[in-house]
Amino acid sequence: MRIVSGIQPTGNLHLGNYLGAIKNWVKMQDDVAAQGGQSLYFLADLHAISMPHDPKTLSANTREMTAALVACGIDPDRSILFNQTQVPQHAELQWLLNGTARMGWLSRMTQFKDKSGKNREGASVALFTYPVLQAADVLLYQATHVPVGEDQKQHLELARDIAQKFNNDFAPKDENGEDAPVFTLPDPIIPPEAARIMSLRDGGSKMSKSDPSDMARINLTDDADTIMKKVKKAKSDAEPLPSEKAGLEGRAEAANLVGIYSAMTGQSVEAILAEFGGEGFGKFKPALGEVLVEKLAPINERFNELRKDYGALDAILAKGAARARELATPTLHAAYDALGLVRG
Ligand code: ATP
Ligand code: MG
Repeated sequence: MRIVSGIQPTGNLHLGNYLGAIKNWVKMQDDVAAQGGQSLYFLADLHAISMPHDPKTLSANTREMTAALVACGIDPDRSILFNQTQVPQHAELQWLLNGTARMGWLSRMTQFKDKSGKNREGASVALFTYPVLQAADVLLYQATHVPVGEDQKQHLELARDIAQKFNNDFAPKDENGEDAPVFTLPDPIIPPEAARIMSLRDGGSKMSKSDPSDMARINLTDDADTIMKKVKKAKSDAEPLPSEKAGLEGRAEAANLVGIYSAMTGQSVEAILAEFGGEGFGKFKPALGEVLVEKLAPINERFNELRKDYGALDAILAKGAARARELATPTLHAAYDALGLVRG
């Protein structure tokens, strides 16, 4: 078993990233190690240049995000932790896969539609080909499983389509005359309770780093007062909480807040509603705020310690990248060979 997953260093780690991805990364790191497998986690700094960005902020964010991941429990000895830039095989394989990916496939990606918005003509080419780089990220390592939030499921399906077409079109024959596939088709691992955490300001759009409103998300760097304030100001409705799960239907904001409570405590939505059913948000929100503060405070403390030493964080990334390059090289070479590209 080999798992690979990435996160863009485009801002603060937020609750959606934590519940939808990182919490699972930390859990998988132990499960995978117990099975003799390997987990690779990377900062998708090459993906980050697909949107307008400030170079100084990007380089600082890369270190800050490394600190945040370690603070959340990613252990750079047990997992391979690195940034894409230091493993040029990602960019190389992307180019090779651009020959296999189809315009029609990429045109159907909802993230591109969401992020390019009304300004399709002005979007970067990188934003369009973003999912091909993402395919390269996981195929390069023969990942068997990719932990992602629900929002990335479509991109993972695309990675599988690219791998399958490449294998079909170019897989060489082994000594028995059988196809020897170049790439493994990875399966997604999506945590069910926290698949998609929604914005605190709008239950119809996902919590995201690129949302201009900071009130829309809980950052892992927020202190206790900020967390309480954001939860109290979160959009909700005037009805009391229902006592049955079905009563949350059509109430996106209420469902999101209860979902966050559930993901943070491990309690089922049913159990939470059995406790809070009939109560208004005046009672539920402070309870949710307290749960968040209690669980996030130790992460926050560790993060503030780690971020003081960029040198130590750079050393973690350099070491991870050296290990990643070693794992990436055989697959990249196999892809060049399959395509008939001559290497010295
Ligand atoms: P951006 O807005 O810059 O795309 P993002 O918040 O979507 O940032 P990414 O770096 O794109 O964060 O994604 C990192 C991981 O977090 C991915 O596995 C993604 O599926 C997960 N993730 C992001 N947002 C959410 C969310 N709202 N709920 C659950 N998982 C999420
Ligand atoms: Mg995203």
